[in-house]
Amino acid sequence: MNILEVNNLKVSFSTYAGEIQAVRGVTFNLKKGEVLAIVGESGCGKSVTAQTIMRLIPSPPGVIKDGSVLFDGKDIVKLSNKEMEKIRGSEMGMIFQDPMTSLNPTMSIGKQIAEGLVKHQGMNGKQAEQRAVEMLKLVGISNPEGRINQFPHEFSGGMRQRVMIAIALACNPKLLIADEPTTALDVTIQAQIMELMKKLSDQLGASIILITHDLGVVAETAQRVIVMYAGKVAEQATVDELFFKARHPYTWGLLRSVPRLDQKADEELQPIPGTPPDLFAPPKGCSFVARCPYAMKVCVDNDPDLIPVSETHTAACWLLHPGAPKVDRPTEAGG
Ligand code: SF4
Ligand code: MG
Repeated sequence: MNILEVNNLKVSFSTYAGEIQAVRGVTFNLKKGEVLAIVGESGCGKSVTAQTIMRLIPSPPGVIKDGSVLFDGKDIVKLSNKEMEKIRGSEMGMIFQDPMTSLNPTMSIGKQIAEGLVKHQGMNGKQAEQRAVEMLKLVGISNPEGRINQFPHEFSGGMRQRVMIAIALACNPKLLIADEPTTALDVTIQAQIMELMKKLSDQLGASIILITHDLGVVAETAQRVIVMYAGKVAEQATVDELFFKARHPYTWGLLRSVPRLDQKADEELQPIPGTPPDLFAPPKGCSFVARCPYAMKVCVDNDPDLIPVSETHTAACWLLHPGAPKVDRPTEAGG
């Protein structure tokens, strides 16, 4: 069963210089209990997609131009702000990159967890406090009874991110969106936080959308991956298919830039040369054409549709056309 169905979503921002087409027709589903990663470089539209699902894009300048976002059967594009606020507080949770900016520095941790429970779940203060203690325990914070009275600055970066997860999950949301949740943390803490999110989603049955630019994080955490480029889906696959059978040249480039265990310290990662296209005036053909080593004549004028590779795998590239020349695709990250 799908908890979320995003269909042909288009989101633009109007600026003094014109309209930025940030999300240009994105379609995907999320099953109940599934962890889906959305990856891509900054500016590819992954965060805007996530914010649109939660209806958190500032409007103006943001506008949902087209498409639908069915969450548990309701099209959130059509809901009133009031209805949406209720859903955000009880059925969706969000975790951001920097917990310091999303926590209130002047309010105790316990009050911040309890706030949503009183407002959206009808709990009284005592019940909410009890639940706050339970949640802190669940996310691995020791001495939760003592720590609920402390303030954000008394917690380390990793502990603050655990608190954010506690807040996001306190209302038992059906969907948790995590936008670069571990980017600001060091590698060991990153792994612990991802492990925790996965465990909690298993325990509580929440579906997760994980937004990241880091394919290393994806391999350990997600079941499926969407690769976004220039506001569109370039490739969509299971994690295994993406790591071992990727079919889009942009994904090959991303995979080459993942550090490998056997990599020598002085070996440079190979980021993809060039920059993404200008989304004020997106190219009429394939968005990746200017950076693609395999670009053909057809790619300049014609934007490829997503072509099925398997039941769970699609990629938008003319190389998948039966008439295209065969290229030797890299067989593994770094190949
Ligand atoms: Fe490269 Fe053409 Fe495929 Fe685009 S459609 S990724 S330009 S080969
Ligand atoms: Mg972002």
